[in-house]
Amino acid sequence: MLSSVVLRLRFLLFDVDGVLTDGRLFYLGDEVAVAFDVRDGVAVGRARDAGLGVGLLSSRKDSPAVARRAAELGFDEVLVGCRDKAAAFADLLARRGLEASEVAYVGDDLVDLPVLRRAGLSAAPADAAPEVRRSVDLVLDAPGGRGAARELVDRIVQALGPVS
Ligand SMILES: [Mg+2]
Repeated sequence: MLSSVVLRLRFLLFDVDGVLTDGRLFYLGDEVAVAFDVRDGVAVGRARDAGLGVGLLSSRKDSPAVARRAAELGFDEVLVGCRDKAAAFADLLARRGLEASEVAYVGDDLVDLPVLRRAGLSAAPADAAPEVRRSVDLVLDAPGGRGAARELVDRIVQALGPVS
């Protein structure tokens, strides 16, 4: 990874379905369940230790599981129900005083492309849609919901080098 790109990063933003989860939705009566990877949770702490803000950006709304996971991990931004992800991204930049080049975004599907094109570092899980894999700076080895977030954070922290 280019260290000049990584050194600019101040915020990591993750899509939820297909990135923090494997994209499957389990319909259990009135509830919709998803599965998160514990190792990705550790990544949030690592990112914060490296001085980076962390957030999630999802077009799906009304997901108690996502809200609970976000609260447990202490995400700085929980952007859900965002049908227009590009608009939500622009709003995030304005609100936090960030440049697009200072944000890394991980997404897995077509709806993520407008944000991936703007982000300073764009990444996709190994099992992202082909159009997305072709468009991003970095295709991760790990699939969504199986360590993709962890891998990105590990790579960024490694590129940043030891904290002086
Ligand atoms: Mg997705």
